[in-house]
Amino acid sequence: MEFSISSSRMQEVIDITAKVQAIIDKNKVLEGLCNVFTLHSTAAVIISENYDPNIGTDLLNVLDRLIPQKAGYLHDRIDSNAHAHIKSAILGAGKTLPIQEGKLRLGQWQSIMLAEFDGPRSRMVHVELLPSP
Ligand code: ZN
Repeated sequence: MEFSISSSRMQEVIDITAKVQAIIDKNKVLEGLCNVFTLHSTAAVIISENYDPNIGTDLLNVLDRLIPQKAGYLHDRIDSNAHAHIKSAILGAGKTLPIQEGKLRLGQWQSIMLAEFDGPRSRMVHVELLPSP
């Protein structure tokens, strides 16, 4: 199953937990694993807090300090988004989470977030469900 999500800024984190849970609900998976994977090399799927949206901003700011947007990257000769590829590669395009009693088994402060590094644009997210036997 896949869904698309539109980012509205060059860099942002977007909570996609409800969209993933809706797919689990629709498929009536009670126990198992859920893999969430974005089909892009300049975005990432992360688990983070969303109760305080400043956490997302802090994360983006820290990543910008570690991986500045302009640093003479070789790839920038092609399309000027090397920093976005590097951030995506470090954070990872996907995460696998447990499903328990029909719900994503997340901690109280955990959400599934799409991290956008080269927006705004439309992003595809693939959700693969593996029910327990
Ligand atoms: Zn590129």
